[in-house]
Amino acid sequence: RVLRVAIMGLGGYGTRVAEAMLACKRARLTGVISGTPSKIRDWQQKYGIPEENCYNYDTYDRIKDNPEIDAVYIITPNALHHDAALRVAAAGKHVICEKPLALNAWEGQEMVDACRKANVKLLVGYRMHFEANTLEIIKMRNEGEFGKILFFQGLSGFRIGNPDQWRLDKKLAGGGALMDIGIYSVNGARYMVGEDPVWVTAQETKTDPAKFGEGVDETIQFQLGFPGGAVASCLSTYNMNNLDRFFLNGEKGFAELQPATGYGPIKGRTHRGGLALPHVTHQTVQMDEMAGIILDDKQPVVAVDGEEAVKDLKIIDAIYQVCKTGGKLELEL
Ligand code: NAD
Repeated sequence: RVLRVAIMGLGGYGTRVAEAMLACKRARLTGVISGTPSKIRDWQQKYGIPEENCYNYDTYDRIKDNPEIDAVYIITPNALHHDAALRVAAAGKHVICEKPLALNAWEGQEMVDACRKANVKLLVGYRMHFEANTLEIIKMRNEGEFGKILFFQGLSGFRIGNPDQWRLDKKLAGGGALMDIGIYSVNGARYMVGEDPVWVTAQETKTDPAKFGEGVDETIQFQLGFPGGAVASCLSTYNMNNLDRFFLNGEKGFAELQPATGYGPIKGRTHRGGLALPHVTHQTVQMDEMAGIILDDKQPVVAVDGEEAVKDLKIIDAIYQVCKTGGKLELEL
C-alpha cells in the first residue's frame, strides 16, 4: 500500500516536499489544501491532482469523506498547526505536521490528545531522524564507540532577510530563531546524546530590536544537563549565516556533523574517520519512512511522533522562561 497525502500550505517548504515525493516509493501526493486558487490550479496540473481532492481552509473538514486521502501534511506558519491538526484528526485522517509542532507544549499536548482520541497517528517533520550519517553516529554511540557521552555542541542559525515575513511575526511564528532553527539544536541535543535533559539555563542577546520585536528572539544561547552527566551548549540565531554544526564527545571519541541539519548533503566525521553515506533527498526518505510508520506500524530508530515534539516544546518553553528569570530550571519531560 501507498500512503496518500494531501499537503496543506503550498508555500516554500510545501513545494519542496511535493517535489521530493515524486521520488517516493510508498508515499504519493493526492490532494491539496490552500487558500489560493491559482496555486491549486498549478499544483493540479503539475502533480495530476483531481478536482475532488482540492480544498480550501473553509472546506477541508470534508476530507473525511474522501477515500483517496490517508494523511494531511500541515506545512503552514507555526501558529496555524494546532487548529489544523485538531480539524484533520476530527476528519479521521492521519496528521503529519511541520516543526515546531505548536507554539508551546500545552498546545502540542492537545494535538497529541486529539489524535489519540481520533485514533489517528501524529507525526512531526523531523527529517534528520531518517538521515543516514546522523543514524550512523547514533548507531556508533549505541555500540559504545564514543564511550560515555559527556558533551554536545549544537549551533543552528541563518541570517533572516525580509523583516515583513511571518517568521518575524510573534503571532504567526510563536517566537523567533529558537522556534524555527534553534529547535534543530534542541532536538539534536536529545538524539545525539541519546537522553532527555533534566535542567536548562539560557541567555538571550538582541543586536537589532527594530527587526526582532518583543517576543521574537534573535540569538539565544542555552545549556542542557543530562541525567548521565553530559552537558550541551547550544546557540540559536537569526543573525549568522552558514551556522549548522553538531559536535558530540565522549570519554573515547567524537562525532561531528557540518552541515548537520541543512537539506544536505550532510557531512560528518568521527575520530575513526570520515562519514560518507550517500545523500538521498531528506523529504523523500522521510515520506517513505512515514508511510511505513503509518501503514505498517514500523518503529523508527528515533521517534517522530507528537510526544517527541512535545518534549522539544517543553524545553523551548523553559528556555524562553529562563531567559527572562535567569537561573537554572529543572525539566520534566
Ligand atoms: P512559507 O511562508 O514559504 O509557506 C507558508 C504557506 O502557508 C504559504 O503558502 C502561505 O500562503 C500559507 N498560509 C496559510 N495561511 C497563512 C496565513 N494565515 N499567513 C501566512 N501564510 C499562510 O513558509 P515555509 O517555509 O513553507 O514554512 C511552513 C512551515 O514549514 C513552518 O512551520 C516551518 O517551520 C516549516 N519548515 C520546515 C522545514 C524543514 O526542513 N522541516 C523547512 C522549512 C519550513
